Amino acid sequence: MESDRAFKNSFPDYSGEALLDSNRKLKEPYQHKIVKSIEKLVKHLEGSFEPDRKDDSIYTGNAGQAFLSLHLHSKFAPAGDDRHLQRARDMLRPCLQRLTGSRVSFLCGDAGPLALAAVLYHKLGKLERARGYIESLEDMCDRVCSDSSLPDEILYGRCGYLSALIFLQHNMGEDCVSKEVVAGVVEAILKSGEAMAKRERCSYPLMYLWHEKAYLGAAHGLAGIYFMLLQVQSPSLQDRIRRQVRPCIDFMLTLRFASGNCPSSLGSASGDKLVHWCHGAPGWVHMFALAFKIYKDKRYLDAARDCAEVVWRRGLLQKGYGICHGTAGNSYTFLTLFKLTEDQRFLYYAVRFAEWCCEYGKHGCRTPDRPLSMFEGMAGTVYFLVDVLDPLNSAFPCFDFQ
Ligand SMILES: [Zn+2]
Repeated sequence: MESDRAFKNSFPDYSGEALLDSNRKLKEPYQHKIVKSIEKLVKHLEGSFEPDRKDDSIYTGNAGQAFLSLHLHSKFAPAGDDRHLQRARDMLRPCLQRLTGSRVSFLCGDAGPLALAAVLYHKLGKLERARGYIESLEDMCDRVCSDSSLPDEILYGRCGYLSALIFLQHNMGEDCVSKEVVAGVVEAILKSGEAMAKRERCSYPLMYLWHEKAYLGAAHGLAGIYFMLLQVQSPSLQDRIRRQVRPCIDFMLTLRFASGNCPSSLGSASGDKLVHWCHGAPGWVHMFALAFKIYKDKRYLDAARDCAEVVWRRGLLQKGYGICHGTAGNSYTFLTLFKLTEDQRFLYYAVRFAEWCCEYGKHGCRTPDRPLSMFEGMAGTVYFLVDVLDPLNSAFPCFDFQ
């Protein structure tokens, strides 16, 4: 199906070319072309981004710039060069002084600046200060667990808080966060899902609604929630999570469109339209890929492959080059498949989409409301381009902690 939401993909099909060099990084001349583009875009970002007193989030605000700076530091900075860390510190400092307590998630709430500050000060060797931010994050747990008005999804809810904890464990070791806090929030998410599954008479154990609607995608829906639960590392929690989530993913398998794309909500009348991380196959693919790794059931691998094929056909979005609903976020579908299978066809797809992103602004895409931001704009595109250079160590930002 051709779509008015996407540009026609006119790239030639994969010819069998090997794309990695002897260090298992992206080979030349692709590497050089993408590095040049990153340098140009970073220069533009650093010269143009104006901090916004009203938006400290990672998703569209100031902390998102800090998040990109941490990524640039970890991928590019020579020993002793703290330039990117300093920018991250400058971006985060005001955010930390005006935490609002109104939102709890990593992407859109206080958990974002707090978790980033912990990692930043850990890298700067200021361990006590890092500890203080972790404790502030842990202090939010009681409210996250007990506030019945909170949803469970990634963008504003409990799984969004859980993702900040997993991010910290990924960067600083599993023991950096209290086991009780992780167990507490996981318990609250499972309980909430069990209660909703019972209320809705579901044939699978965990169900979640957002604003009384059964969203299915990564940002507000089931794919994001199940994926985040499966990333919990504690052995004492894993058995139960894996047992409960598997029948849910089997249910998700049955919902897919013939094209390989995935619906945005249960009973949605809008049909097979959106191919975004937030709504559609580019969000579900992460869940299918991890499910295949854990359960070794080939149906999940086949579903993940179907996601990649639909993103290849319909993923060059007119909405722009961003992470949430843009070409960069869609490209992580291919990086995920490449990491899972090491089939270079998927790396080829990612490289072609990266080349598309290197032509930033030249396709007549719509300009997002927050054009320089991490999840809607240029910062996220840069994040993706950096990841393509080292594809085996890439991961969808703030979401995939494999
Ligand atoms: Zn989106």
